[in-house]
Amino acid sequence: MVDKYNCKVPCDEHKLISFPGVGRKTINVFLSEFYNIPAIGVDTHVERVSKRLRLAKNNDSVLVIEKKLMKKFPRDEWGRRHLQMVLFGRYHCKAVKPECENCKIRNLCVKKKKI
Ligand code: SF4
Repeated sequence: MVDKYNCKVPCDEHKLISFPGVGRKTINVFLSEFYNIPAIGVDTHVERVSKRLRLAKNNDSVLVIEKKLMKKFPRDEWGRRHLQMVLFGRYHCKAVKPECENCKIRNLCVKKKKI
């Protein structure tokens, strides 16, 4: 597939989506990390953190969440915010047993455990 593009991965989301197994999240992360194009990839961590912090509703799709986050944060912060939310969700606001006791933003959270 990449051969079609002379062994270079294109920086065009319309071309990237034609690659097998590549979805919107992957495209956004790739464009942001590799080409420094502002984008917010919504993975499982970003989705969970967004919902817990009321940045999105529980029934919002990942696409809706992505659009809400894009409105919420300035364009030049999208890549950084994505990474912050991924790391926060992976190591602190985990799906199971989130570390609410030490959470500095628990006042914003709908999911916080009672301490
Ligand atoms: S209080 Fe707990 S669930 Fe809420 S954002 Fe912090 S770690 Fe996550």
